[in-house]
Amino acid sequence: MLSVSDAQAIILNLVQPLDKQRDTEVVELLAAANRILAMPVTSTLDFPHWDNSAMDGYAVRYEDVQHSSSEKPTVLQIVEEIPAGYQPKSTIEPGQAARIFTGALMPAAADTVVMQEKTRREENRVFILAAPKPQEFVRHKASFYQAGTQLLPAGIRLNTSEIAVLAAAQCPQLNVYRRPRVAIFSTGDELVAVNQALQPGQIVDSNQYALAALVRESGAEPLLLGIVKDEPVALEKVITHAAAIADIVLSSGGVSVGDYDYVDKILESLKAQIHIQAVDIRPGKPLTVATLPASHSPLYFGLPGNPASVLVTFWRFVLPAIKKISGITQGWEPVFLKVRSHDELRSDGKRETYLWGKLHLIDGVYEFHKAGGSHSSANLINLAQTNALAVLPPGKALISPQEEVQVLQLIIP
Ligand code: AMP
Ligand code: MG
Repeated sequence: MLSVSDAQAIILNLVQPLDKQRDTEVVELLAAANRILAMPVTSTLDFPHWDNSAMDGYAVRYEDVQHSSSEKPTVLQIVEEIPAGYQPKSTIEPGQAARIFTGALMPAAADTVVMQEKTRREENRVFILAAPKPQEFVRHKASFYQAGTQLLPAGIRLNTSEIAVLAAAQCPQLNVYRRPRVAIFSTGDELVAVNQALQPGQIVDSNQYALAALVRESGAEPLLLGIVKDEPVALEKVITHAAAIADIVLSSGGVSVGDYDYVDKILESLKAQIHIQAVDIRPGKPLTVATLPASHSPLYFGLPGNPASVLVTFWRFVLPAIKKISGITQGWEPVFLKVRSHDELRSDGKRETYLWGKLHLIDGVYEFHKAGGSHSSANLINLAQTNALAVLPPGKALISPQEEVQVLQLIIP
């Protein structure tokens, strides 16, 4: 059977990122958080924009003050006071200084700032009590960034720090990729909607809600197509419709070996190309991955029906695909942390096994606490309040308490 890493590689290979011309839109900076930059950004501004002071103190000529000490202070005449935001008028001549504040423009001919704590003031004169270093406490124009060079590359997610940089660079509008469209439907004759009364044998379609939340959290747009009966005609219709409107299609259920598991047969009859039908993973083994016959080759994930399988296969396989299609240029694959396990973790030693639980910070070190209760793929109750999946690779049947374990942190970086 296909290993998890081989399945991952096949999937990422199938994903075509959104087009950097056709699949973009312009958004206001305030609406740009979490979006993916489609064009590199260049600024016409240098950073800092001007030579300015990094301290409250005195702007001086280094030559004048290089031999200063508390025993033999240099005495300078103060010719101007320069608060932040003001343009200095004077040129500092030998023997002169300007009172200056943090962020204020350096006056002409001054090259160094002496911090206020190393001076003594007497009316219009300042005593320099220690020799500064040449150019000390001056932030030089363009020393952080040079106008005209690349400020931010295309293909990155805009987080807080990028938004701040773009604001400072006076970029009020950005060219970003449109959100990938992800169609979601649930299959099963036993499923009812969240607000419908349950008859014996029925269960509520929770997967639709789980997948909608996961897709939205990943920055993509969920398109909810509801519950579809285990009937070939209905399935064919919804898959054809989904292929026409979405970049990625997610279904849950109907991909196992039961008599009513029609998804793979329908994909075949629609002439979809099936790339994966099972992966060596627990939970989540019956996973179908196909490309649908439409001009934009939408990627189809037939996820297993059980709720824990949906969660694990989404984090392990679907999220990397959404990231790549979004236009992000690197870091698609999940990042695993090495942490200490609080509990004994067991698997059958064959399939790559994922156990859900919670990371706790103990004296600054992460510790994985396995969720109590059943780790059956049908149990979703103990998924609540978890934030990590611990991984036991094939061949590793036991991790003892305090032993190191790899975990997938359930946050979208
Ligand atoms: P299946 O692979 O279609 O046989 O689904 C396996 C099991 O997953 C079913 O027996 C249901 O208990 C459960 N299941 C399937 N679809 C959903 C859904 N949309 N929401 C919650 N549980 C589901
Ligand atoms: Mg089913």
